[in-house]
This record gives sequence, C-alpha cells and structure tokens, in this order.
Amino acid sequence: MKEIMKDALKVEDKILEDRHHLHQNPEVGFNLRATSAYVKDRLAKMGIESKEYGGPIPEDLRQKFLFAGFPDMNYSTGLAATIGQGSPCILLRADMDALPMAETADLPFAAKNGFGHMCGHDSHTAMLLGAARILKAREGELRGTVKLMFQTGEECGCGSKFMVDAGILEDPKVDAAIAIHVMADQEAGTIHFSRGIASAAMDTFMVKIQGKGTHSSQPQNGIDPLTIANQIYTAANLMIGRETDPKETVAFGIGKFGGGNAVNVIPDTSEVMMAARTFNREVRAHVIKRLPEIIDHSVKMWRGTYDMMTFSTPSTYNDSDLCDEMLPFIREICQEVEEVDCMAGTEDFGYVSEKVPGMFMTLGAGKPGAYPMHNPNMVLDESVFKLGAAIHANCAFEWLRMHQK
Ligand SMILES: [Zn+2]
Ligand SMILES: [Zn+2]
Repeated sequence: MKEIMKDALKVEDKILEDRHHLHQNPEVGFNLRATSAYVKDRLAKMGIESKEYGGPIPEDLRQKFLFAGFPDMNYSTGLAATIGQGSPCILLRADMDALPMAETADLPFAAKNGFGHMCGHDSHTAMLLGAARILKAREGELRGTVKLMFQTGEECGCGSKFMVDAGILEDPKVDAAIAIHVMADQEAGTIHFSRGIASAAMDTFMVKIQGKGTHSSQPQNGIDPLTIANQIYTAANLMIGRETDPKETVAFGIGKFGGGNAVNVIPDTSEVMMAARTFNREVRAHVIKRLPEIIDHSVKMWRGTYDMMTFSTPSTYNDSDLCDEMLPFIREICQEVEEVDCMAGTEDFGYVSEKVPGMFMTLGAGKPGAYPMHNPNMVLDESVFKLGAAIHANCAFEWLRMHQK
C-alpha cells in the first residue's frame, strides 16, 4: 500500500469527526461564518495559517442575489492556506456551502437548522482537511507549494470567482488545480472523470417586467405584462429549436413565470426566469447573445419596460495533459478509474479551470440508483472519504515532485 494511503487511514477518524461537525452545522451561500471559523481553527491546530479570500461581496452581485430571491449576502468567507513553499504550485479545491433544504435521512449527525449538506460539500471540506494533515506532516519532502482553497457559494455558481478575483491563483502562481466531488449514485470508491468540457456552462436570465395594471374590462388603458411574459416564453423556446444545432445539447428551461392575483385584474408586473445549460462554446455564445435580444424586443413590442439580471457559470474544463499526469497518482490510491461523458450539471470550479490547467473528478460514495445529490434522502458511504483525502494528497505530492524546479 502506498505510504500516503497509510497516512490517510491514520487520519480517517479526524476526517469523519470534521465531516460530522460540518454536516450538523450547515450554512448556505457566501457568508459561512461558523464553517470558515471551524476550518480556520482546524488548520491552525495543524500549524497551518489560513487567510481569508473574498470579503465584502461587490454591490452589483449583492443586488443580483437579492433580485433572484436569495437572502442578503454581503460577505464571503472563503479561506486559503499553503503548505510547502516556492514553485511549482498546485491548488486543491473544496467547497463548504450547503443547500437551503432540510434533510430527511435519519443520520445521528443530521442537521436541524433547516439547511442540509445534500451536495456533500461537508465531505469535500473534511477530505481536504484530511489531505492538509497528511501533507503538513510531509512538508519537508514537498517540492513546491500546495495551496488549499476552501470556497463558499458553489451552489450560487460563483463562490470560486470571488477567490480568483481576490488573487488566489497568484503568489505563488498556481500551475495546476484539482477538485473532487462525491457522488451518492456512483459506485463507492470509483473515480470518474472526463477530458475537455467536464460540466455544463449555465447562463441564467431573470426578467422582471413592468406593465401598467388595469381593470380587465379596460385593457386599452393598461399594458399587459402577462402578454409580454407569454411572448418571451414562446420566442425563447422557439429560438432554441430554430437557431441551435440539433446535434448540440442545450438544456433550456423557464423555471419561474407569471404574475397577477385576480381574474379581473391585468397586473402591473410579471416575471420570467430562465436558464440555459450548454456544452459547446459557439452554441453558448449564440444563446447568450440572442436571449437578451428576444427579451428586449418582446417587451418593447408590447410597450413594457423591464429589469434583467444575469448570472453565468462557465463550463469546467479538464486539461487532457494534466489528466494524463494525474491518472497514475490517482490509480496508486484507487484502481477503478473510468473516463466518462461530461456531466450535465454545473460546477463553479469552471472559474479556476478557465485560468489554470485543471482536473475535476467525481468520487463514488454510494451506488447507481441510490438517492442522488440534492435529494433530501441523500446519504454518503463514509468509507470513501479517506480515498478522497489520499487522492488530493498523493496528486499534490507526486505532481510537485514531477515538476520540481
Ligand atoms: Zn450541488
Ligand atoms: Zn456540489
């Protein structure tokens, strides 16, 4: 057995302790005060100093999230820390945020505050703390720097961006980055990855339409915002069908739509909220150019006005050469590694992988057919967390040795 795997077995109880604590105390969004404080404290006890990356959220973004119906989130508590020194530098990413949903699985460490770690980010944080423990004990043997990234707001699609904007990829400059996501409906202990595009890009358009409310018997005195919403709905769906290559995937959906309260009132306002997930860069560029045009023209055609907010998360891109370098290091820990099609979901590791060569992989923590991620009954096989910690540590350790200067 590889030495680093033996190290991981020794820290397994700490990984589980961290996971249970985080699971029982979930926080959502960007302002993860208690979670970040816990991680900071755990790192400090290992002799690792961490630094906050993020701070106040830019005002325009704060307004966007308010517009989208999130609570007011004005601060991001991302953390970064380094082990070793100098160049080269490899970044290991974990996300820390939970979902605004209560879990129904009957776990002894279930959360009771109405939020839930139904995307497994508690285990990502615990696995990276485990990797930190392993790597700190081997700091003298490291041939460069390991940068630990504990991000907020992955479920908001841009928590990683705050840290990238705040300079986490610099000083020392990051040369490669990896991230692991657990999957409850993937066979326990297997690793899946894909080359090139590894997750969908997601572009969200939220439109609030201002019409002019009136009595339904006097439509000539008003501007009907529901007519406008209806026209946007139809035109947007038609555009996807008529203007994108049928061989390319566009998962388009209008998930929030409507307005009004009474049968005899033409309402004052309406709203339409839509998102498009794409994999092909040209298709994405066309869709995100055309949807605002369709919205603008439809509203103007019927004499309304509107406010629009957009959010975008790029695709995660797996660098094929980096995958080839990492695969032997992953296989030293976990033999069952499979190359698969990219996932339909979105992952904000995309903001890291668009700047530096990256590899995103999934670690099976259940079995096919089990309750999937984001399901209130989702449970994870905890025996795989030591593998995740060991993969992080082994990839970092060996990749630095391979590229030492
Ligand atoms: Zn998720
Ligand atoms: Zn997730």
